Amino acid sequence: MFFKQSTATLPAWFRQDIPDPIAMRAMRQLLRTSSLHSVCESSRCPNQGHCWERRVATFMILGDICTRTCRFCAVASGIPIAVDPAEPEHIGQAVQDLGLKYVVITSVTRDDLADQGAGQFVLTVEMIRRLNPGVGIELLVPDFSGREELVCQVASIQPEVVGHNIETVERLYPRVRTSGDYRRALDVLSGFKKAGAPAVKSGFMVGLGETAEEIFQTIRDLKSAGCDMITIGQYLAPTRQNRHVPVARFVPPEEFQQYERAAREIGIAQVAAGPLVRSSFMAEELFSVSR
Ligand code: SF4
Repeated sequence: MFFKQSTATLPAWFRQDIPDPIAMRAMRQLLRTSSLHSVCESSRCPNQGHCWERRVATFMILGDICTRTCRFCAVASGIPIAVDPAEPEHIGQAVQDLGLKYVVITSVTRDDLADQGAGQFVLTVEMIRRLNPGVGIELLVPDFSGREELVCQVASIQPEVVGHNIETVERLYPRVRTSGDYRRALDVLSGFKKAGAPAVKSGFMVGLGETAEEIFQTIRDLKSAGCDMITIGQYLAPTRQNRHVPVARFVPPEEFQQYERAAREIGIAQVAAGPLVRSSFMAEELFSVSR
């Protein structure tokens, strides 16, 4: 188990097998020797064992320090390091080394950069494609402060899937995603759609104190913004410190099924919902069934 949250408080449906230590070590070594970061580690993702055993990781570019301090997130915040010009090549090489057919790239938020990191996404996609012709690429990007030209810049490189997570319902934004804006996040998603992105994805967490009706409304909003794919997972507090909001409740698996059905009825064809679902969890499989 990788949760920092006390396992004693977790319901039985979170129990998982102990991961293979050799596979874990190999992935960690690959990341360290290439000076790369993964969101699997930085977010303390509960699926790390499952994904890394399959040699799947979600790469996090632009460093591992975020300029924002969302109260649900495990990633460290502060003053980020300079952008590494070798990072795109290292990612492309790692995709080759892992033999991936599909890769998910995300980043911290870089409000300190003039282009908020959009250019590094473009360079990374170009390098992945150069070194790995035919590989599928999914980008999970920050909100670029809602700047339309940056949204268009990223959409123009035509990743197979581009996403931005809405993360929570509108009412909880001031408490959970303090420097984010629910409407701006929707605008980013609809901006991708308008700019011709092949598939647009978003995701959010439950268990933060939202109501079922707020969840249905969020799904409707995502549909209106043009989302083709969504993920819904259980929020787990990264720490018990004040910085992070506590879990309001653990949503049972049957309730996730209800949200998945509702999303399909609302018209979103590709939905993954469950306690352990994360935006990049089984991303290749979710993308494959959409084709
Ligand atoms: S679900 Fe995503 S972030 Fe979590 S371990 Fe898997 S690839 Fe990494």
